[in-house]
Amino acid sequence: MSKPVVYFANARCHAYDYDYGLLGKFEEMLNRVNLEKYISAKEYVPVKMHLGSRGAYRTVRPVFVRKIVEAVNKINGQPFITESVRLPGLKYLQVANANGLNEQSLGAPIVIADGIFGLDSVKVESGPILNEIGVCSAIYDAPAMIVVSHCKGHIASGYGGAIKNLGMGGIAFKDRSSGISQRGRMHFLENEELTWNEEKCNMCYQCVNVCPHESLAFDENNQLQIDQEKCIRCGRCARVCPEGALVLPQNEDLFQKVLAEATCAVLKTFDKKRVLYINFITEVIPECDCMPMTDTPLVPDIGIMISDDIVAIEKATLDMINKSQLIQDSKVGDNGITTNENIFKQVTGKDPYKHVKAAAEYGLGSLDYEIEMIDCKPKPDGSTAPKSVLDK
Ligand code: SF4
Ligand code: SF4
Repeated sequence: MSKPVVYFANARCHAYDYDYGLLGKFEEMLNRVNLEKYISAKEYVPVKMHLGSRGAYRTVRPVFVRKIVEAVNKINGQPFITESVRLPGLKYLQVANANGLNEQSLGAPIVIADGIFGLDSVKVESGPILNEIGVCSAIYDAPAMIVVSHCKGHIASGYGGAIKNLGMGGIAFKDRSSGISQRGRMHFLENEELTWNEEKCNMCYQCVNVCPHESLAFDENNQLQIDQEKCIRCGRCARVCPEGALVLPQNEDLFQKVLAEATCAVLKTFDKKRVLYINFITEVIPECDCMPMTDTPLVPDIGIMISDDIVAIEKATLDMINKSQLIQDSKVGDNGITTNENIFKQVTGKDPYKHVKAAAEYGLGSLDYEIEMIDCKPKPDGSTAPKSVLDK
């Protein structure tokens, strides 16, 4: 059987020519994949992306998302940008706007996939760990989808790319009837809660400040109070705690599998070959865009990949990051990393290949792949010579 194709455009540019730059190459990639294979005329098409956080500005740049919107419009599809409630719905839209992501910049409206309150979802059978999980309704009801992922590190899975984008971001905030946080069921072991160790706590307040739902507060006796009703079990507080005073009930192997299982649930709602993945391997930072800041990248910009195989594109992305040069003025240097073997594991302590392999075991795609390079956008007459060449 032939290997799935992963289209790749390198971020480097060797000519003073738009068609040789990443935007020109990206236009050619969108042309080469033939969107009509995935999207029919008049269909609503969610373009699933992360909208960043206040302080996390290294999301996929609007100019690239706009190219996707234009390409979908060109074949008479009806694109909208979508993301699920992570920050409270309205606040998230304001944050997106502050990050330069809005209808004017993107060319299509932003629609919260699980509704402005994060309660609009449909239960989908998932697998042995979760049994079933609430998939965001705007994704559930869509016939086709484009998944746009900014590739970076992640606190729980080591790496956040397309699988994390769907396995977390395609799942609704809360279940309407039970009020249980759907994504929180993945971050925390079932039926367990965050614990606080007073003796280790230095009262730095970082946990309180980082909580997106104001679930944490110190009382008059300096006891940390956790509002379990408000807590969505995202794990950010435990991530930033410098003393290990907040402990997340989590098991890495289980989390990596559960992420693949939730991705499987989301993808089950589409017919085969109706979802396209676009990975931006640029500004490869150590943490997710969920955090309230961003750090310098671990490696130089690599480029963009497109494939209709989620496992192939994720494996290719990680493999390519691991062949890249290291930037020492980043978490790489902080952690004393000198070899580029499994960089995200060395930076985050979590092995990202685990959830990619788990996704393959769930039948979501192939660990083998074939790279097809896109070197430039051909001129209207089909010629590919650059207008000027830097390297000559
Ligand atoms: S896990 Fe921590 S940061 Fe996340 S909502 Fe709960 S208390 Fe807030
Ligand atoms: S981040 Fe940790 S050390 Fe700081 S206040 Fe919270 S629990 Fe205490």
